[in-house]
Amino acid sequence: MGKILVLDELTANQIAAGEVVERPSSVVKELVENAVDAGSSRIDVWVEEGGLSRIVVRDNGSGIEADDMQTAFFRHATSKIVHSRDLFSIHTLGFRGEALPSIAAVSKLECISSTNNNGLGRKLVIEGGKVLSIQDISCSQGTEITVNELFYNTPARLKYMKAIQTELGHISDYIYRMALAYPHIAFSLTHNDSELLRTHGDGQLLHAFAAVYGTTTAKQMIAVEGEDLDYKLKGYVSPPGLNRANRNAITFIINGRYIRNFTLNNGLLQAYHTLLPLHRFPMAVIQIEMDASLVDVNVHPAKWEVRFSKEQELFAFVKAHVSKLFATQTLIPSGYTASANPTVPAPKQVQEQLKWETPNVSDTRKPSFESYREIDNDFEMKEVRENVQKWIADEQVANQTTSVEQPRFPQLEPVGQVHGTYIVAQNEQGLYLIDQHAAHERIHYEEFYEKFGNPEPISQELLIPITMEFNPTDARIIESKIPLLAQVGVVLEPFGPQAFRVISHPYWLPKGEESATIEEMIEWILGEKKGIDLHAIREKSAILCACKASIKANQALTNLDMMKLLERLAGCENPFTCPHGRPIVISFSSYELEKMFKRVT
Ligand code: ADP
Ligand code: MG
Repeated sequence: MGKILVLDELTANQIAAGEVVERPSSVVKELVENAVDAGSSRIDVWVEEGGLSRIVVRDNGSGIEADDMQTAFFRHATSKIVHSRDLFSIHTLGFRGEALPSIAAVSKLECISSTNNNGLGRKLVIEGGKVLSIQDISCSQGTEITVNELFYNTPARLKYMKAIQTELGHISDYIYRMALAYPHIAFSLTHNDSELLRTHGDGQLLHAFAAVYGTTTAKQMIAVEGEDLDYKLKGYVSPPGLNRANRNAITFIINGRYIRNFTLNNGLLQAYHTLLPLHRFPMAVIQIEMDASLVDVNVHPAKWEVRFSKEQELFAFVKAHVSKLFATQTLIPSGYTASANPTVPAPKQVQEQLKWETPNVSDTRKPSFESYREIDNDFEMKEVRENVQKWIADEQVANQTTSVEQPRFPQLEPVGQVHGTYIVAQNEQGLYLIDQHAAHERIHYEEFYEKFGNPEPISQELLIPITMEFNPTDARIIESKIPLLAQVGVVLEPFGPQAFRVISHPYWLPKGEESATIEEMIEWILGEKKGIDLHAIREKSAILCACKASIKANQALTNLDMMKLLERLAGCENPFTCPHGRPIVISFSSYELEKMFKRVT
């Protein structure tokens, strides 16, 4: 007798659940994706105790046919693909037919659905994968799935669940991304009676963004758009002055699917290169459309990750379009939004501020299916929502006024200097503060970058050569970099087994700092983990020289000095941030000044 058996359906579903249903947010994800696939224009999500005691997802989509109700809960039952070839061009979020049976296998589930508005529908009750009842009921079109006591029959899994806040964090993060991916769907998320998010569903990405991150933030975002033969990109990116300590506020949506992808993130981050300080990250929501055949979504059971057939092209595409945008923008942060006006707390912050109630597992909180209820007891969320609505109304008025074209870097008239460090300047639009050291660094950086690109003919033979000694490993690395250093005008030759001699260097290296500059270039080469190309070494060398050559803070400048400095700054390719990504100019518009002095309200 053979020992191999085909597993029964329930066991197979519980195994699949291990992959698909990792935690409460996975359930929310699968149910919301089904609601999106069903063409819903409204999706409401209620969760209790971080989703562990209850998750309800209700939509107004196409509904499930009465005859299909039970089939939908069979393993590999899907209405979304018919042939295996369909896997190569997937236009729905789901397709594996695993979610419903997996969730039903590890919870107590109720599904109510109707495909019409005649008030007729069907209700199915399943517990631990076993159908308890199926009956005709009256309800409106759409589907409502209630998942109670997730993992009640898989205690090992339940043990791994983190604090309620952590689980809720995963859920809300996912809903925020979906709200951004589908601005034409009105989403709401409620946790234990506190409404955490409500989007308008008016199709405007920026309005959805405002509902998630607050209107003050949304108003500062810059629209980005682009297209080539394979890809189409649309979205919003933050000006460099608006940044975060981590990558969490970056959202990429590929063909309507929120995904996490290192390469895409990197394309975006590189476009911000030298515009952002170290360890700061932009905010962005970027939707990319491409032919479904260019992306493989069947890589990850929960589909968080995808595989692109032309990943490098896509990277370059994102980087190019965001960089191009910055090349035309005036990127002067307002001193007013940065300090005087605290931003409206975004739901994420609100969520952290909320005090969680003690768990209550009673059955009385189930929302009624007949009418959508509005919960307004969370004051701060209400404020965010009202702000978005007010903004939408204001925008309709504002759209009628036309804006005047301004030069990219404003014409400025210096007024004076503060502490020998900051230049105060003005024009008709307002007041500007310029960090003179940062401005000098930027000007020098761009000049040195140019010079390092063509250093050969002007290299200088040294009367007293500079010699440097290294350990054997470092010496080998440096030996291999001799040709690269020569390209930026620093010519080395071996001088004994572990030593090198600088025989010539560009004559314009900062005076008196020549050997220190070269030593720092070499230290950087030794410390750099990534491959170094000509651009990287030009950039680094230019940064080192710019630091050394720039005037230090506390240096008195005459009016003429200031005018010249501002003129040179205006001529820079990027006059807004120093090479380390710190801002050079901060502005207060006349209106902002009036607001601060309460001349206007
Ligand atoms: P998949 O989404 O991969 O097809 P699921 O197990 O998530 O598999 O769902 C099975 C089927 O049930 C879907 O293909 C769809 O036909 C139906 N279904 C599930 N949820 C909904 C919903 N909210 N509205 C309409 N149909 C749904
Ligand atoms: Mg699905």
